[in-house]
Amino acid sequence: MDLGEKVSISDVDSIKRAGKHLLAMINDILNLTKFEAGRIDLQLDTVDLPILLDQVRETVVHLVKSKPVDLKVDVVPDLPVLQTDSRCLLQCLINLAANACQFTDRGHVTLSVRPFSDATQDWLWFSVIDTGCGIPNDQLERIFEPFTQVDSSLTRNHEGSGLGLAVTKRFSELLGGRVEIRSRIGHGTQANLFVPVFPITKPQALAA
Ligand code: ADP
Repeated sequence: MDLGEKVSISDVDSIKRAGKHLLAMINDILNLTKFEAGRIDLQLDTVDLPILLDQVRETVVHLVKSKPVDLKVDVVPDLPVLQTDSRCLLQCLINLAANACQFTDRGHVTLSVRPFSDATQDWLWFSVIDTGCGIPNDQLERIFEPFTQVDSSLTRNHEGSGLGLAVTKRFSELLGGRVEIRSRIGHGTQANLFVPVFPITKPQALAA
């Protein structure tokens, strides 16, 4: 543009968007490959949850900026101190939140975190709730497989790689937790990610 070329802001925006998309895809492929090779070394650190959720929000907010979608973050006070690998956790939450933002045309996307305890241990329960197009029941297991996207017969204007949930499932298990998705077509989706507050032993990357 400085050289006086006839380039419009929207062209520059498209280039930027395509670059980000490509980078996210490469990142997913690298993460999955590293996981399969047993090459992910977890680093436990103390996570500042409000900062982490803010990072997630900042990363995905552009996906809803041109839509009537309210992106909210809901953090209750006095959460337990979480010790986990913050890079893996951040990647999981970005993947879930990006999907929610991409597949929601109107309404809201809410990221929240709550403490949760069962007979075995204390957990943090992250949820990403959207009012988007939803996922058919018979696809809910499949979407965690690499390179899987929901049937294109549903109106889905989306160019993902089908890797985000595969990475999220593997990373959540490395952290000693799990991810599950519930959904109703036409009503929306809720993704739940459970992460132990203190890993009992330092989780190790799975051997190849
Ligand atoms: P990608 O988003 O790159 O296509 P993912 O593995 O993250 O890959 O998701 C797989 C598929 O699951 C998506 O292509 C989409 O069809 C479906 N999906 C995931 N999250 C949602 C959601 N919140 N609402 C509707 N569909 C979803």
